[in-house]
Order: sequence, then structure tokens, then C-alpha cells
Amino acid sequence: MILSDNAIKVLEKRYFAKDENGQLLEDSAGMFRRVAKAVAAADAPYVSALALQTIEDEFYEMMSGLEFLPNSPTLMNAGRPLGQLSACFVLPIEDSMENIFETLKNAAMIHKSGGGTGFSFSRLRPKGSAVNSTGGVASGPVSFMKVFNAATEAVKQGGTRRGANMGLLRVDHPDIMDFITAKQDNADITNFNLSVGITETFMKAVAANADYDLIDPHSQTITGSLNARAVFAAIVDMAWRNGEPGIIFLDRLNQDNVTPELGDFESTNPCGEQPLLPYESCNLGSINVSLLVTDQGNGPVLDFERLVTVVKKAVHFLDNVIDVNKYPLPEIEQITKSTRKIGLGIMGWADLLFRLNIPYNSQPALDLAEQLIGVIREQAREASAELAERKGVFPQFEKSTHCQHGIRVRNATTTTIAPTGTLSILAGVSSGIEPLFALAYIRNVMDNDELMETNPFFKQAALTGGFYSEPLMRTIAARGTIKGLAALPASVQAVFVTAHDISPEWHVKMQAAFQKHTDNAVSKTVNLSSKATREDVSDIFTLAYETGCKGVTIYRDGSRDLQVLNIGKVN
Ligand code: ADP
Repeated sequence: MILSDNAIKVLEKRYFAKDENGQLLEDSAGMFRRVAKAVAAADAPYVSALALQTIEDEFYEMMSGLEFLPNSPTLMNAGRPLGQLSACFVLPIEDSMENIFETLKNAAMIHKSGGGTGFSFSRLRPKGSAVNSTGGVASGPVSFMKVFNAATEAVKQGGTRRGANMGLLRVDHPDIMDFITAKQDNADITNFNLSVGITETFMKAVAANADYDLIDPHSQTITGSLNARAVFAAIVDMAWRNGEPGIIFLDRLNQDNVTPELGDFESTNPCGEQPLLPYESCNLGSINVSLLVTDQGNGPVLDFERLVTVVKKAVHFLDNVIDVNKYPLPEIEQITKSTRKIGLGIMGWADLLFRLNIPYNSQPALDLAEQLIGVIREQAREASAELAERKGVFPQFEKSTHCQHGIRVRNATTTTIAPTGTLSILAGVSSGIEPLFALAYIRNVMDNDELMETNPFFKQAALTGGFYSEPLMRTIAARGTIKGLAALPASVQAVFVTAHDISPEWHVKMQAAFQKHTDNAVSKTVNLSSKATREDVSDIFTLAYETGCKGVTIYRDGSRDLQVLNIGKVN
């Protein structure tokens, strides 16, 4: 097994089964075997015992070879008593005290099991409106979001993961300005990512510099209007200040809703990559594309043949997860099993580009991105169609747009690009479709010891090119970029770019390239330098809209006091 020390540390802390004294009951081989066995078990009614063993072995090989990893809850919980395997949930919040607190309880149960929750607060009546039963006044969406935040804070003390939420409010909700500024103080609402739900009507009003209506969701009446450009500028200003709120193009999400008869998308999961119907859940998995390189004598190219094999197995795996999953609520089980959504994506994209000598910020990279995700979607649908032949289409198939198009599949959606925050650490590759943050950095290990970490593909190129040296790597770690380093050939400087070498426009273009053939959405952060202006942020939002992204999250370097990743030094 090729796991790094760092990966083993993460696994020991949170993923491996332990006894009541905290003693480890398994190692990485044991964990992958446990997961493979539990997930293969879904095939027991369909195949012989011998064939079942083969499926288990295939799943095991795919995970232990780090070619594919399912989302964290599957690794943690498969084959164990909890058995909750999904990363993503969306829960409805109705405009009643009973339902708000019922959902709060449900969210706590999901967090305990390692899942993340998304909510739209848009159905709650605005602050100050009347409450019939008590004669009092409503406190509004933002105040309830703070309650959800506090509950998450309490649950995280005991759970395996921190607990993560998406809070969304429609741009036409009367409390929208309170929502936009809700995280003005960084220390507030820390367990939520906030996104404004943007409508087409709003975008048109921005373009026309017009006012748009605010609608009270309770009475369905127009309560006032705001100037669209002023609201847009307020979102831009807050995002510029500290990266939030992000924006989600709600109408665009719903254009791609394959089962509109079952309901509308009101929110996504916490990191924005998975739109879901109320109570729907989804399990994700990611292919490590950094491994998919072949060289037939004409230089390194993407190994599409191997990709196709992995996609087929991964779809089979994720579809099985739906059957062996233990769901936190009957409502969640019911709708999840009726649409059978899965989200297959990738990690290690930046590393793959390094191996192929393609700069991230280049047209060839965009072309390859489209081709890669196009093949993944096509093959994933084919795999889902094969499963449908053997095991049946998803129960709501006849109400879906797939049925209208005559595509008999077992899964309403198959592709999603996740952030792979932990999975990429386990696989030791760049996360999701993000560029690297640094080629070399100093990691503080225990007791002030310092460890030099260098990206393996950069190190390889440095060794091959004859310019590797420890002092040079230290210089690179301190500078944060190799741009302008005379010791390095121009071709190396062009290929080994990091997040801040890449202009924000290229970040958006890459997100859009992947979105083009992704059923669900794409997790991506557009990095801006600390010097970026509000106008730059506004341009990025507009570009994301124009290029077909489903939402956009930006981060301006240094804009939050507590930054997770700092150039030059990572703790
Ligand atoms: P991983 O790499 O651990 O599988 P990702 O970083 O790809 O997870 O995140 C995928 C999704 O998993 C997120 O959008 C969110 O729904 C959920 N998630 C991530 N981190 C957490 C967390 N700390 N608590 C709860 N859910 C989380």
C-alpha cells in the first residue's frame, strides 16, 4: 500500500475502527476490505458467491490502489454499526416552529454520522412579520440560522467530523440584506457556508440596472423592492471582504433537475457541488486521475482506456452504496432510493496536468478537462444503463427527463465534482480540480520540527532537469511561486503553476469546462490576490454566470484572519 505517513495519521485519527479504549482494530488494508465487503454485499441477491467475491476484490483493489475513493462517511462507516455512508443531504425548513426544530434535530443526527447538510431558509417569513398563534413577531431566517450554527457547534464536540452546513437564502427574500451581511464578523456562523440563491429575474434586473421585487414567502405578497445592482454590489463587497456569501444560480440548477415533478432544488450540500431535492441525499466518489497516464513512446498522455475501466467499477460501487446505506430518516431513505443519485468526480487534476506538461491556465488544459469529464459522464451513464438492465431503472424513472429522452438508467445523476478535502490527503494528490496551493512548503510537525514537503511531480521534474536542490526548494517554499526564478527553465515555469499564478479568469474557465459535462455541480474556489478589487470580484461573478457555472465561490488572499492555507507555511 502506498499511503503517506500523513494519510495514515488522518486514517488513524478518524477512519479506522477502534475499540472502546481507542485501540485500533484495523489498518488501511483492513479498512478497505471492510468497505469493499460491505458495499459488494448489495450484489448478493443478483450473483453467485464466487462472483460476489470477485466484485469485493475489484472494489478492494480500486480503493487500495488509490484509483478511486468513496466519500469519507463510506470509508468511516461501511460495515460498521452506524452504516451511514453519504456525504450530502438537503433538509427542508418549513415556516413553522415545529418543523424548524424537527429539522434541527435531523441535522444534528446527520452531523453525528459524518454527513453535511444544506438548507434553504427561504421559506421562513421575514423578520418582524406577525406570528398568529402567539401574537408576537417572527425573528427571521438569519436568527434561525444562528440556532442551527450553535447546534452544529455542540454536536461537533462528539462527532467524527466537524459538521458542515450550507445556508441559502433567495435573493428575493425580504431579509436578503441581513443575510448578505450575516458573516460580516468572521467569528460568526462559522459552521455555515452562505450562498445567495440568484434568480434569472435578478440577473436581468442587474443587467438593466432595474429594481426587483421582494416576496414574503409566507403571504406570497410583494413587500417591497430593491435595486438589483445595489444588492449585487453588497454581495460583491462582502465576498471581497471575507469570501462570503458565495452565489448559486438557482434557476440554472433547476434547469438541470431531471425529476422536476418531485420538487425543485432549493439548496445544495455544504460545499455547493450537489443540488438536492428536500430530504434527498447523495453519495460521492472520486477517481484519482493523477494515476491515469500512459506513454506509448510519444510522450505522456491521458490513459482513457484505464479511465473507462475505473468509471465502470466506480459507478457500480456507488450504486451499491445506495442499497447498503443506513439512512438517518425514513424520508431520506424513501426519496434517495427513488432517484438513486450518485456523484462520481475526480481528484488529482492539477497533478495530472503536471505529468502531461500542460499548464493549468491554458486552452489545452480546458480542452482536456472537457474531454475528460465528457468521457466520464458518457461512460458513467453507460455503466448506469447496464446496471438498469440487470437491476432495474430508478423507481421515479418514468417521471424523469431521462425517460423522455429514452435513456434507461439506474441513477438520476451520475457525476459531481467534490472538493475531496480529505480524500485528496489520503490519496496524496491535489484536491478536486483545484490547482496546487504551493509546489513546496514547510510543514510544522510536532515540537517545532520542520518538514520540507515538495510536490512529487515537481520534484521529479526538478531531478530530471538537473536543478533539484534542497536550498532551491526552500526558496520556492518562501516565495510561493517559481515564476521569475532564473534557475528554472521557462517551460517548467509555465507548467508548474500554482493557485496564485493563475489568474481568476482561468479558475472560472476551468470550473466552466468541467461543469459543461457534469450532471450535478462543481466544487471550486476562485483564488484572488490580496490586491484584487471589488470590481475584480464583480467581473468573476459575471464571468461565472456567462460561462454556465452553477455558482461561484471566491477567496481573496489574506481576507480572513484565520486562513487555512498560507503561502510558504502550512501548519
Ligand atoms: P471528503 O474528502 O472528506 O470525502 P469533501 O471535501 O469532498 O469530503 O466534501 C464533500 C462533501 O462532504 C461536502 O460538500 C459536504 O457535503 C460533506 N462534508 C465535508 N466535510 C464535512 C464535515 N466536516 N462535516 C460534515 N460534512 C462534511
